[in-house]
Amino acid sequence: MSANPQLPVRRLLVIDDNAAIHGDFRKILTPTSATDALDSAKAAFLGAPAAPKRPARGSFSLDAALQGREGVELAAAAVRAGAPYLVAFVDMRMPPGLDGVQTIHELWRVDPELQVVICTAYSDQALDKLADELGRSDQLLILKKPFDPAEVYQLAEALSRKRLAQQAAAMKLDELERLVRERTAEIEHAMLHDKLTGLPNRTQVLTRLEACMQRRPRADQAFAVLFIDLDGFKLVNDSLGHEVGDLLLIEVAGRLRNSLRASDLVAYSTMPARLGGDEFIVLLEDLRQGRDSARVAERLLRALAEPYEIAGNRLLLSASVGVTTSERTYERPIDMIRDADTAMYRAKAAGRGRYVLFDQAMHEEVMRRLSLETALRHAVSQDELYVAYQPIINLAAGELAGFEALVRWNHPKYGSVPANELVSVAEETGLIQQLTDNVLRAAAGQLARWQAAYNRGRELVVSVNLSPRLLLDPETVNRIVGTIREIGIAPKSMAFEITETMVLSDRGCSRSAFDALQQTGIWVHLDDFGTGYSSLSCLYRWPFSGLKIDREFVREACARREHSIVLRAIVDIARAFGLRVIAEGVETTEQHELLKELRVEYGQGYLYGKPCSAAEAESLLMDMPTLCHA
Ligand code: C2E
Ligand code: CA
Ligand code: CA
Repeated sequence: MSANPQLPVRRLLVIDDNAAIHGDFRKILTPTSATDALDSAKAAFLGAPAAPKRPARGSFSLDAALQGREGVELAAAAVRAGAPYLVAFVDMRMPPGLDGVQTIHELWRVDPELQVVICTAYSDQALDKLADELGRSDQLLILKKPFDPAEVYQLAEALSRKRLAQQAAAMKLDELERLVRERTAEIEHAMLHDKLTGLPNRTQVLTRLEACMQRRPRADQAFAVLFIDLDGFKLVNDSLGHEVGDLLLIEVAGRLRNSLRASDLVAYSTMPARLGGDEFIVLLEDLRQGRDSARVAERLLRALAEPYEIAGNRLLLSASVGVTTSERTYERPIDMIRDADTAMYRAKAAGRGRYVLFDQAMHEEVMRRLSLETALRHAVSQDELYVAYQPIINLAAGELAGFEALVRWNHPKYGSVPANELVSVAEETGLIQQLTDNVLRAAAGQLARWQAAYNRGRELVVSVNLSPRLLLDPETVNRIVGTIREIGIAPKSMAFEITETMVLSDRGCSRSAFDALQQTGIWVHLDDFGTGYSSLSCLYRWPFSGLKIDREFVREACARREHSIVLRAIVDIARAFGLRVIAEGVETTEQHELLKELRVEYGQGYLYGKPCSAAEAESLLMDMPTLCHA
């Protein structure tokens, strides 16, 4: 057998009061010099390695002791050094001190796995008794004196390999267990943490919150949820790129963590599927009273408002925070987070960079919203919504030019629900498509009847509002065209009003849907021009056929004469683009006069008529053209 490179040097121990025996063992097991050549040859014949100068890997190294005590000490030291003996040969006939049996017991005490070979001249009977006394038959073998060198070698070989195999198995098992533990921990971590920031995720917040809710609430103990959303984060992402955005989120995560106690939970709440999310949740567990959460919110706002140095960019950012506390009674964690979220939106609406505490009024609104959702679903499917018509006037001719169709709904409990709210609920619940279909069908059908009954009906244009979201669906335009054809209305008798929003992006379906809508010959008007989002650049990028100037803009232009210059400029630009201009929200004769002076073509507003029923609209049609104040 040659030196095995996989095997370590195998350490053996001999305990015998006869030093000559030590030498014999050495010769058999560790042949190292030329004088041992003969013995080496014998060993080689038996399969032992040729004599190396230093112990080669896989060969034996031997320590020897004259007394039991000394042997036990060597064994203990070997264990401490992390290189225990594999096999100990122990002579049974020992001088005063530890006898053979005691020595073996002691050896097993310091090294419980040690393989032991008893070297003895005892009779078989005495040996049986001895073996019984020692136990551990799997760690014990007997070598009868006088012994055969080959037998010694084979015992050392077999037993040391046995112990090495046991060690390897134990190590493998340990290793396997460690790997399983590590993998489990990794998976658990991934399930409960956000990859980017390393913060706990929403799932963990829900679990911790659940535990908070189940604990018996004490009078002097409260908890709170803070919902944090960065202001203007999208701008950073869009202008500096996602990498900078990601670094910023990591920095924000760090600041939040550093501004809180270790027992507070800071989590990244954005759903994994959503890119570029910037929402964090903080759970404050050990508050004396709910009100204390306000101080924490202020502290967090200050920490987040400090300038950021990200990849060579100096950034200033604020955050909006919504807070709700256990002083309200919550049954489900998700409700508490929803309320904090609602309060956060209030903070944004109130001007950002601040916190807002969720209150009763907000609660009632949330409840109203929830009940509206259910009721609206029913109303839309039962076609309980109806359409109001608001006249649009040709200002120069002083004639009725058409109507804007506006959706109306009488809720059994809340009465008439404002169209804005109704539409936003419909958009959120996916009911907007059916709602729009219903309004379009009603308005186009009404127009078809008017056109059949009145000569002037042919010149009317009826406008329907189109949620920009619907342009994300490639089928929308086909559906619209189908409905209008089915009802038998010429495309030029219909207009769609679209408000510029984020949804009108150059990418994706909205662009091709917009172009398809244009090509049908239906008028497409940009609604609410002059408010928040809308900009002149929108007119360059999107081929609208008309422009509706928002009522705020009309009011301003009339109230402050210098603002009329802006209005005039816009009308000129629109004309240069070949767009129709319709002024909204005309309430006074001064406004009417100014618009005429600026040669705005169309006007709509309470001055000419409020949104009214189809029957009232029809009487306007009959009275035309005496209707207006031209
Ligand atoms: P909008 O498209 O800007 O509609 C004009 C709104 O201004 C209407 O409010 C109308 O009643 C109101 N209004 C008209 N003249 C005057 C005036 O002289 N003074 C004042 N103060 N207000 C005036 P309404 O009916 O509450 O509709 C609100 C919004 O809801 C609409 O704004 C429109 O964006 C949306 N909407 C209404 N119906 C529909 C619809 O069928 N589909 C969609 N997607 N949105 C709709
Ligand atoms: Ca409109
Ligand atoms: Ca409008």
